Amino acid sequence: MLTIAVASGKGGTGKTTVTANLAVWLASQNVDVAALDCDVEEPNLHLFLRPVWTKTTPENVPVPEVDEERCLGEECRKCVDLCRFKSLIMMAGSVMVFPELCHGCGLCTLACPARAIREGAREIGVVRTGATAGADSARIPVVGGEMRIGEAMAPPLILAVKRTAPASAVRLIDCPPGTSCPVIASLGGADLAVLVTEPTPFGLHDLELAVGVLRKMDIPFGVVINRDGMGDDRTHRYLEREGIPLLGTLPHSAEAAHCYSEGRLHVDALPGFREAYASIWENIRTLAAREVSR
Ligand code: SF4
Ligand code: SF4
Repeated sequence: MLTIAVASGKGGTGKTTVTANLAVWLASQNVDVAALDCDVEEPNLHLFLRPVWTKTTPENVPVPEVDEERCLGEECRKCVDLCRFKSLIMMAGSVMVFPELCHGCGLCTLACPARAIREGAREIGVVRTGATAGADSARIPVVGGEMRIGEAMAPPLILAVKRTAPASAVRLIDCPPGTSCPVIASLGGADLAVLVTEPTPFGLHDLELAVGVLRKMDIPFGVVINRDGMGDDRTHRYLEREGIPLLGTLPHSAEAAHCYSEGRLHVDALPGFREAYASIWENIRTLAAREVSR
């Protein structure tokens, strides 16, 4: 199984369209591919792949519930002092829990000398599974997470999406944008990453941040320049200078923008894009082979 994370330093670079188009192109080449939407705060891969969802599973994180009868109160404070997320406070001799701050690490339960803490549950969102309706011969399994409104705990839901996804020859992960914890959770375990950027100064700035994260995580990666031709050549020069593989470019065009705005796939609507994705896939395979033999 080859797990490929599609990421970008910032939103709006076309990361989700690259994931969707690559998935459909691979399926059309009879590659066994699954698509995972790990952008659980703003999932939109389904807008392009249009899966039929067949299962929706709530995802919970454990949160402490304190039995006041057993709690030793002010003279103990172990749980309050140990919680690094400040999810517990002591107030008038009683422990108060702020479940939305709790990371479900279980440390307070373990540390309580009076067995006054038991694990409750808090729903953070849902994981959906389904498959594309099979417009292009192959059915692509799709798994996506959607966080509850107001929820801030994305990583456990992202891990649940990855756990739920079926084993397949190629797994494409649509990562959240940026470089924060949800991105790290999405990238974890990936064999390689495809960074999608656009050739603008903003795009380059955020690409450099994303490159820093991938180098720290020691994940091999290459770059796809989307909307090539709209900005300048600084991104191309940066990749050359840094020795970063350019996996491919996707042209800036009014037709492509129009397709996107209608939720249509470029590989279905614009012939030149099929060749572009064929070339991107060839370069991904070369990069993967190079990393295996490293
Ligand atoms: S489970 Fe962990 S994060 Fe949650 S309250 Fe206990 S110590 Fe804090
Ligand atoms: S560790 Fe247990 S006994 Fe101590 S303050 Fe917390 S809940 Fe109470």
